[in-house]
Amino acid sequence: MSEPILQVQELNAGYGDFSALEQASFSVDHGQIITLIGLNGAGKTTLVKTIAGLHKPTSGKVLFMGEDITRLSAEKIVSRGLSMVPQGSRCFNRMSVHDNLLMGSFPKSARKHAKETLRHVYELFPVLEEMKKRPAGTLSGGERQMVAIGRALMARPKCLIFDEISLGLSPAIIKDIYKRIIQINENDKTSVILIEQDTQRALRTADSFYVMLKGKMVLSGKSNEVDAEMLKKAYFGI
Ligand code: ATP
Repeated sequence: MSEPILQVQELNAGYGDFSALEQASFSVDHGQIITLIGLNGAGKTTLVKTIAGLHKPTSGKVLFMGEDITRLSAEKIVSRGLSMVPQGSRCFNRMSVHDNLLMGSFPKSARKHAKETLRHVYELFPVLEEMKKRPAGTLSGGERQMVAIGRALMARPKCLIFDEISLGLSPAIIKDIYKRIIQINENDKTSVILIEQDTQRALRTADSFYVMLKGKMVLSGKSNEVDAEMLKKAYFGI
């Protein structure tokens, strides 16, 4: 079996004296979807920000495609093929949808294929092509989320992290966005890390799950073999 695309090894990180991540380890295989679940404040966002180079760990290692990316800048990590769609669907409000998307193709390797990738993004989200000239600030929450996903795709990631992308969206839009995530995973073979408040949805979508509690990984397994009682105990720490 080939080595995992992402290996997170005993990562520690915090804010001042506060320790938000304690020896957090997990791995993602090529083409796999995994989900990180846990209560508010469990450390999920800190973990993915640390992986993506947006927060510095105090110790531990992140290997991406076998190479150590622990101390690389966020831009370099995106260039290697690891992108994140952060919480809150952030867009450049005054810029058009089209220009917002193009901003995502900054890595050299992605820029060469920008036209072709843009076509792919518009095929995935036809609504974005219809409104490509509109300033992103005039879009609905769901549409802005699609722009944020499209922008991340423009970097041609091999692994994509989604941090609570369904926050504040209607059930119909959430369903549609999850359909696209599965399409991205199946068609492009992109590995996916999902942080999702809706545990049932997360388990339905992911191959494997990891439960975090107070900065630690407390349970992991295959989503289709989950023991509801054990999951509840790990999730709430009871
Ligand atoms: P949620 O599901 O609510 O988004 P989470 O599992 O993603 O939560 P984090 O956002 O990683 O958790 O937060 C982990 C801990 O770190 C929390 O106790 C939080 O208050 C703390 N924390 C997060 N960001 C900061 C910060 N910038 N400064 C200080 N403490 C922070």
